[in-house]
Amino acid sequence: MSANPPELKVIFLDIDDTLFGTSDFVVEARTKAVEAMIARGLKAEVPEVLQELAEVVAEFGSNDDHHYNRLMKRLPESATAGANHDLLVVAGVIAYHNAKWKKLKIRPEAEALLRDLAATDLRLGVISAGLVHKQMEKLLRLGVDRFIDHKLLFITHEVGIAKSNPRLYTRCAEVAGVPTDQVMHVGDHPYHDVDPANAAGFRTVWIRGTGKHSKNLPKTEPNHILDDFVALRGLLDEEYGIPLERRNRG
Ligand SMILES: [Mg+2]
Repeated sequence: MSANPPELKVIFLDIDDTLFGTSDFVVEARTKAVEAMIARGLKAEVPEVLQELAEVVAEFGSNDDHHYNRLMKRLPESATAGANHDLLVVAGVIAYHNAKWKKLKIRPEAEALLRDLAATDLRLGVISAGLVHKQMEKLLRLGVDRFIDHKLLFITHEVGIAKSNPRLYTRCAEVAGVPTDQVMHVGDHPYHDVDPANAAGFRTVWIRGTGKHSKNLPKTEPNHILDDFVALRGLLDEEYGIPLERRNRG
């Protein structure tokens, strides 16, 4: 531990690709969706439908509510003729969500650390991009809501400021009632989690991991670059003097 560890009052966490890996479930869930549609009369091969679906998501964004409707409109007539389009859409959506929620689990080392942090004086919050109910559902299904201060839950569509804007981070620190240099943000996205939080004066942790954003470098230097929550535990203990009981070890 350094002689005078920086004081930390609040730690904010990103959700997607930080608390769990999104790439872990997306391919499998989409495949299950397409298989369910084929089982109900879609006449196409899985890879070609997956390709079209990937294009729909890329064009309309991951928060669009009509991926499977759009997919049906774009597939060749020969693939969809004779089938009940609405039935196929709903079959796809159900299969996607079933597979997703089965697979979507918090990383065990992240859960262990959050549990231990929740027992300290530090307050934990969330800063996440997306639709508010969708992100809340993730928090609840991951079981993270138990560990965080519910007043410190900031979802961009609800706040009205995007993650790329440092004002989002400034606002979060204001609501928490602490100076930004006593706040840490932990996330995977170089331009959404690192650069704007740096600009706001936060202590920044870039969980580089293996997520889809790990290949791009932030434009500004994060305070810490870590592989995972095991390393974060070590960092908080050694550099920030946060005493963590290791109740979840062994
Ligand atoms: Mg993320």
